Amino acid sequence: MRKVSIFGATGSIGQNTIDLIARDMASYAVVALSGGQNIQQLAKDAIRLRADVAVTADEARLEELRAALAGSGVEAAAGAEAIAEAAARPADWVMSAIVGAAGLRPGLVALEQGATLALANKESLVTAGALIMGTAERCGGQILPVDSEHSAVFQGLVGEDMSAVERIIITASGGAFRDWSLDDMAKATPEQASSHPNWNMGQRITIDSASMFNKALEVIETKEFFRCPHEMIEVLVHPESMVHALVGFNDGALMAHVGPPDMRHAIGYALHYPERQKLPVERLDLSKIGSLHFRDPDLERYPALRLAHEVLAMGGLAGATFNAAKEIALDGFIDHRIGFLQMAEVVEEVLERLSASQCLKNAEMTLDTVTETDHLARKTALEVIAELN
Ligand code: NDP
Ligand code: MG
Repeated sequence: MRKVSIFGATGSIGQNTIDLIARDMASYAVVALSGGQNIQQLAKDAIRLRADVAVTADEARLEELRAALAGSGVEAAAGAEAIAEAAARPADWVMSAIVGAAGLRPGLVALEQGATLALANKESLVTAGALIMGTAERCGGQILPVDSEHSAVFQGLVGEDMSAVERIIITASGGAFRDWSLDDMAKATPEQASSHPNWNMGQRITIDSASMFNKALEVIETKEFFRCPHEMIEVLVHPESMVHALVGFNDGALMAHVGPPDMRHAIGYALHYPERQKLPVERLDLSKIGSLHFRDPDLERYPALRLAHEVLAMGGLAGATFNAAKEIALDGFIDHRIGFLQMAEVVEEVLERLSASQCLKNAEMTLDTVTETDHLARKTALEVIAELN
């Protein structure tokens, strides 16, 4: 039996992971599940999967979780510290699917105890790429990408030598506003930005898809995970979301990964790696689909993509700054404090104000310096938002 833990179990990736594991309960022993506010779902899944421990991020809701687990034999715990402790419990395979910068620490702890880390939490690579990749190397652990584009690139590279790779192309659906004018985007509401044409995902990543901040994070994620020059990374708008990524080789070949927009493919690939096993995803009939479309992204409408390359050129803790500023800007948009296009303005302003800071340039990348930078960038982003209003 493989020991598995799922962090962010109540979210969209977490639920898809549970769906795969619950189909084959005899093969897995579930160690820990974590969630945030959705206590009932967390308790229900922990009981169903016979987890050792269920942890909510919210300390104030520990009693509620205890009550929901009463008599089940599943241990209850709460708070960020308890999540890190749960990640330290020995497990063979750990899903990192908390949303945001909070996902970094449990991923690092899981690698330190020797787990294979299935990484959906792209913020880990964006904020602390060198730290998480270095931890995997030092501890002899493996990171397997779960983001669909990165899973696709990873699959395209099996048996290949990185020195033969000239281009890595990740695709973007264009999100909710791909055919909207800049004027209309400026007036867009969080409700409009929260519906994705192809993928069914959590609210935050869905809005990040509409602004292409998600793709910007993924450009950084690509650079950090595959350790390639950022000039090699391209983004292509592909409205059908069926080609997830392409790898371009020095002999002119382009290897494309094609599949339905269903995260259970990438999750299942990481779960069974290095084998492939049958997965409950739709089989595409390309003759029925007929045609697929591709175009370059419009950088004026999606400034986040330009910012991603600026962040990569800055290096160091610029990724942590970018991600934290983006998270605060996203909160501001969701709470109607700033407009849709102002999210990029806020992030750009925070990068500009903090890029001069010596600590950002010179600090060694540790969990502490990443956390400090994250806090400073959040504070600065709040100031920028206050000045805009
Ligand atoms: P969701 O918002 O659906 O789920 C997020 C999960 O994290 C929930 O379990 C939530 O708990 C928990 N959570 C929220 N805040 C905290 C916190 N501060 N501390 C601990 N746990 C917390 O997100 P997704 O599943 O969509 O995304 C998860 C990660 O995977 C993100 O990094 C995203 O970018 C990435 N990803 C997602 C894809 C998708 O298809 N959804 C595709 C590729 C990558 P609760 O809901 O109980 O409050
Ligand atoms: Mg993705």
